[in-house]
Amino acid sequence: MLILVEIKIYYRYDNSKRELLNKKDLEDKFHGIIIPCTTAMYFQNSVSTFLEDFNKPFFLDPMTFFFNQPPINITKRSGSIRRSYKRIIEEFLGLSEEEIKEYIKDNREMITTDISTNDLEVFCSNVINYQKLFIGSNDMTEFIGLYEEILGSPSESKSPEYLIPPYFQIKHGNNSYELNKRCIEIAQNIVNEDDPPLCGVFAITKSFINQNKNIAEKILEDFPNLKNFILWISDFNARKETVKNLNKMKNIVKTLSNEGKNNIINLYGDYFSLLLSKFGLTGVNSGFGTSTKKTTRLSRGNGGGFTAKIYIPKINISLIKDDYIRLLEVKPEIVCDCPKCSKIIRGLNKNNPDFTNNYYNLLLSNNNYEEHFIYSRDIEKKFVENSTLSDLIEDLEEKDNIFSVTPYATHLKRWKEDI
Ligand SMILES: [Zn+2]
Repeated sequence: MLILVEIKIYYRYDNSKRELLNKKDLEDKFHGIIIPCTTAMYFQNSVSTFLEDFNKPFFLDPMTFFFNQPPINITKRSGSIRRSYKRIIEEFLGLSEEEIKEYIKDNREMITTDISTNDLEVFCSNVINYQKLFIGSNDMTEFIGLYEEILGSPSESKSPEYLIPPYFQIKHGNNSYELNKRCIEIAQNIVNEDDPPLCGVFAITKSFINQNKNIAEKILEDFPNLKNFILWISDFNARKETVKNLNKMKNIVKTLSNEGKNNIINLYGDYFSLLLSKFGLTGVNSGFGTSTKKTTRLSRGNGGGFTAKIYIPKINISLIKDDYIRLLEVKPEIVCDCPKCSKIIRGLNKNNPDFTNNYYNLLLSNNNYEEHFIYSRDIEKKFVENSTLSDLIEDLEEKDNIFSVTPYATHLKRWKEDI
C-alpha cells in the first residue's frame, strides 16, 4: 500500500550555521533542526541564544550511542579527553574526569548490560531532564524572560518537538538491543502527558539487521505505545548500497510505519529517503548536502579539513569540486536553477569560457552552496510529495538515461529498481 505523507526536512545544527538556519528567506524551506547534545553542552549559551530567535521545531540528540563501546576513541592523540565527550559523560553519567580516565585506561565500556536498574534509571532521567530543561538554561534567557515579563509580553517557552531516550549502538552478538529497549521503557515512565512526545532511536548495524530479519516487527511488538521512531542504520550510504540493502531499508520503514500510523525519521539520509516517504518515512535529517550517512561506531573523527561538496539536483547527490567540474564539462545542464543559483547566474556571462569556474567559485563563496542545497532539497521534497511512485521511477529513469554515461550516477538505476 502506498502511503501519502509529508516528509519533514531536518538539518543538523552546527554552531557555524546559526546565521544560515535563521535566514528569513529560508524559513519555510525546511521543517526543523536536530541539535547534538555534544554541541548543546559545549556551546550552551550560544545554542540557547540561537533558539530564542529560531521559530521552528527543534530537538536534541543525546548522542549516547558510544556509551556501550570501548572509549579509546574519545581521547585526542595527545591522550586528553575530547571536551565535547567529556561534558556529556559528566552530565549524563555523573562521572568525574578521573573516573572517565579509568574507563579509558582499561578501554572499558561506561554502560554495559550489567548496569543496575537504579543506575540506568538515574542515567535515563539525566538525559530526559537535560532536554526538558534545556531552554532557560543560561542566565541570559532568564534575564530576557524577566525583561519581557516587565514589558508585558512574556516569552513563549519553547520546548523540543520530541524527547529522545538514551540510545546505544545496537549490534549483533551482545545485548545492546535489550539495553536500548530498557532505556526507552524507563523514559516512557519518566515523561508525562504535558511533556513533548518520546521518539525512540534505533541505531542499528547492518550485521544486526542481517541476523534479525524481522527487526521492524520486533520493534513494533516491543513498543506498542511508541509512535515516533528515529532510524539510524550504521554506514548506510544510499548512493552506494546494493539493491538488496536498499530493499532492507525500505522494508524496515514500511513495517515500522504501520500503514502511516507512526512517524519515522532517518537520522542520516539523502534523496533516497525522500523516495521512502512513499513507504512511510516521515522525516529525514542531514547536513547541507553532507552527513547523509554515519557510522554508529565510536570513531576518533578526523582532524582534517572539511571538503565542500556541491549538491547536484539533476542526479540527487553531492560531488566534490574536481568531480563536479568534470561532470559539468560533459553535462552542462547540471547548472542549477534554484533561487540561489538563478541569482548567481544572473550576474555571470554564460558565453564566457570561464562561466563554469566562475559559477562554481561563487557557489563556494559565502557558503552559497549551503543555501543552494536548502532550496534544492525543498524543491525535491515538493516534487516527491506531488508525484506518484511511477512518476518518481520515470524521473529516475530519465535522469539515468542522461547521466549513465558518466561515472557519477550509478545509484539512480539501483534506486529505481528498489522503489
Ligand atoms: Zn542551486
